[in-house]
Amino acid sequence: MSAPVHTACRPSRLLLHACCGPCLIEPLEALRAEASYVTIAFANSNIHPAEEYERRRDTLQAYAAEVGVAVVELAYDPAEWAAVASPVAGEREARCRACYGLRLGQAAGYAAAHGYDAIATTLTVSPYQDPVAIAQEGERAARKAGLRYLHRDFRECYPEAVRRSREAGMYRQNYCGCVLSDVEAQRQRAERKAARRTALPR
Ligand code: SF4
Repeated sequence: MSAPVHTACRPSRLLLHACCGPCLIEPLEALRAEASYVTIAFANSNIHPAEEYERRRDTLQAYAAEVGVAVVELAYDPAEWAAVASPVAGEREARCRACYGLRLGQAAGYAAAHGYDAIATTLTVSPYQDPVAIAQEGERAARKAGLRYLHRDFRECYPEAVRRSREAGMYRQNYCGCVLSDVEAQRQRAERKAARRTALPR
């Protein structure tokens, strides 16, 4: 997972941006061992529709309460997400980068205003995300706010995150978050179903 951190480099107050409950489990455990104090930030204006946003937020909050960590919910503003993502809606890489930048920027702004000295994110748990773009956007957001960005690549935690969240009966979404990712995921599922049908012996 992450490289060992020297005590002198440890953040004392860390704001951990989290996208959902399942992706929170492993990073939270790892980062609680690194930082003296960790708070979770739910900053996800990308999630569509609002009912889905609430379901992911409630799942995350329930888990955080179980393990005794505070959650701050930052403003949910789908119009702000659309303003940054719509101009690049058709280019997945650019769209996701803009989406990471918005969410991590929001978390960094909150962290700087409330006495945190570093931010991190759970986004790198998912093998479907771009860890390089996440690191670059995290660094950029943290630098702008005068903070440190703790880059951790959590992709190898993904199977364990899936196992533990299933075992806990947690809600697990089947698309990344935005309306475009919902459409893309539905199309991919339909394609896989059609391919399986074609492969069946006749
Ligand atoms: S696919 Fe996911 S990361 Fe990319 S823009 Fe949509 S919600 Fe954001």
